[in-house]
Amino acid sequence: MIPAIRGTRDILPGEVERWAFVEATARRVFEQYGYAEIRTPIIEREELFAKGTGETTDIVQKEMYAFTDKGGERITLRPEATPSLVRAFVEHSLEQAMAVPKIYTFGPMFRYERPQKGRYRQFHQVDVEVFGIKDPTIDAEVIDLAWTLIKSLGIDGVELAINSVGCPVCRPRFAAALVAALGEDVQKLCGDCQRRSTTNPLRIFDCKVPVDQPIIDGLPHTVDYLCDECRTHFDAVRKYLDVNGIPYRVSHRLVRGLDYYTKTTFEVLAGQIGAQNAVLGGGRYDGLVKELGGPDRVGIGFAAGVERLVLALPEQLAVPAARPDVFVAALGDPARDAAFELLRDLRRAGLNAQIEYEGRSLKSQMKRADRLKAPLVFLLGDNELARGEVSVKHMATSTQETIARAAAVEFAVGLSRRPQALQP
Ligand code: AMP
Repeated sequence: MIPAIRGTRDILPGEVERWAFVEATARRVFEQYGYAEIRTPIIEREELFAKGTGETTDIVQKEMYAFTDKGGERITLRPEATPSLVRAFVEHSLEQAMAVPKIYTFGPMFRYERPQKGRYRQFHQVDVEVFGIKDPTIDAEVIDLAWTLIKSLGIDGVELAINSVGCPVCRPRFAAALVAALGEDVQKLCGDCQRRSTTNPLRIFDCKVPVDQPIIDGLPHTVDYLCDECRTHFDAVRKYLDVNGIPYRVSHRLVRGLDYYTKTTFEVLAGQIGAQNAVLGGGRYDGLVKELGGPDRVGIGFAAGVERLVLALPEQLAVPAARPDVFVAALGDPARDAAFELLRDLRRAGLNAQIEYEGRSLKSQMKRADRLKAPLVFLLGDNELARGEVSVKHMATSTQETIARAAAVEFAVGLSRRPQALQP
C-alpha cells in the first residue's frame, strides 16, 4: 500500500467534527466583526513569497515547496496566506469593491519543516487581514477578534503576548543597537544566529537553541528604541486592549518569523498542547502592499493554526457526529423493495434515514442500527406488507409498536422534532 506523505495527515470522521466546529465558530465570529470570506489558489508564483514573506526568512530559505511547472514557471505551494491575500487585494482593487477591506480565509498551507506533534508539512490556517487602516483601534480590533475566537472555542489556559517591532525609521537603529550589544558574544551563538546577525538581526529572538538563550535574554528590547510615532501607536493599542478587558503580556522577544511586520506583533500561546504552543500569530505590515506592487496601504492580520486549535479544544467538547433519525430494516425481497420506497419518503421529508444495503439477517440489521445509534427502527416483513403496516422499535426502551405505513413518515418526523426523545 502507498502511505500518506510524511508530515501530512488524514482528518478522519470522529476528529473532523472538531474541525468543522472550529471553522463554523470562526466563521460566525468573523462575520459578526464584519469580515468577509475570500478564497485564493493554493499555488502562487514563487516570487510572491520571496518578496512578501521575505528572502531571509526560514520559510523562504528552507521550507517552500517550490517547483518548475511544465510551462517553465516557478511555482510554490503557499506557505502562508498573507501574501496571497495582499495580491488578491491589489489585483481586484478590493479597496473600491468593498466598503471596508476586512477579509478572512481558511485553507491548507505547506512548509517543509520537521514534523512533530502540532507541526506538519501540510497544515491549515484560518487567516484574517485588514487593509488601509492606520489607526491603532484596528490593531485592537484584530487582537480582540483573535481573542474572541479563542474564547468562543472554549479554549482556556491561553496567554496573549504583544510587542512592537517598530518601523523602517526606528528598526534599523534597534538592529544596530542589537548587534552592538551582542559584540563579541555573537561568536558564542549558533550558526543560524551568526548568519542572522548580518542578514536580519531581529530574527535572533526566534532562536530556540538552549545555550543561546542566556545571551539573547540579555539583549535590548525593541520597545525601548521605538520612534515617537511607533511609541504612541503602541501605547494606544495597549490602551484599547485595556478598554476591551483583554489581558496581555508585553513580550520583548516577540518579533515573529516573517520580514514584513511593522509596529504591532502578537501571538496567542496555549500551554496545554505541548512544545508547539503558538496557536495564533499576527501583526501589522505597513509596507507589504506597496512592496508587492500595490498602492501605499497599510495592513494588519493574523493566522491561527487549525490543527493546534483543534488540539487545544476542551477534551469534553462533545461534537456529535450526524446520526440517523431512523433505520429501516427489511426481511425478504418484497419487503426490501417496500423498505427502499419508505427510505426515499423519509429522506424527502428531510430526515436522516439509513438502510441495510446487503439484505442481511434481522439480527445483523439491528446491530447495524445500534452501531449507527439510530433511535428508531422501522421494520418491514411479509406480515407488515400484507397489512399495510410498519413495526416500530424504539431502541432506547426496546419497546415495540405497530403503525400504518401511510403514517410512518409523519411518525418519524414527529419524533425527530423532540430532540430528547432521540437521545438513548
Ligand atoms: P505563522 O504563519 O508562522 O505566523 O503561523 C501562524 C500559526 O500557524 C501558528 O501559530 C501555528 O498555529 C500555525 N502553524 C505554523 N506552522 C505550522 C506547522 N508547520 N504545522 C502546524 N501549524 C502551523
